[in-house]
Parts: sequence; structure tokens; C-alpha cells
Amino acid sequence: MKVTAHCSSCNHSQDLDLEALKAKLGSDAPAMEWDLRPKLRCSQCQSKKVTLIYAPNSNLMSGMGKAHPERS
Ligand SMILES: [Zn+2]
Repeated sequence: MKVTAHCSSCNHSQDLDLEALKAKLGSDAPAMEWDLRPKLRCSQCQSKKVTLIYAPNSNLMSGMGKAHPERS
């Protein structure tokens, strides 16, 4: 799982290291967006308007929550 933080104030985006975050916040810390977002701040402009983008970096997730593609 790869997490990218995107700042909506200055358009800066930065990959987050989930392992480092867990080390910082504690191994039991939840790592969902609504848990992390209040703790994050843009490293460029110090804004807290940071959006998290979760992207699996493997194929493991590809079969989960599969929705039927819309056909038009
Ligand atoms: Zn920023």
C-alpha cells in the first residue's frame, strides 16, 4: 500500500512512508485517512489541507470490492 499526501493549498504531493508513520505514531496507531489526516501537515507550506491518496502498489487488492464496469 502506497500513500501519497496531496496538499490542496500549494499542490505539493509527497509519498508517505507508512512504516515510518507507524514508528512515529505507535505500532497500534490506525493508518486510515481520517486518523492520519489531522496529524499531517504539508512539508512545503505547513498547510493542514492535506488529502491522502491510497494506492495499492501490488496486485493484491485487484480482486477486492470489484464493481461491475458501467456499460454505456
Ligand atoms: Zn502545501
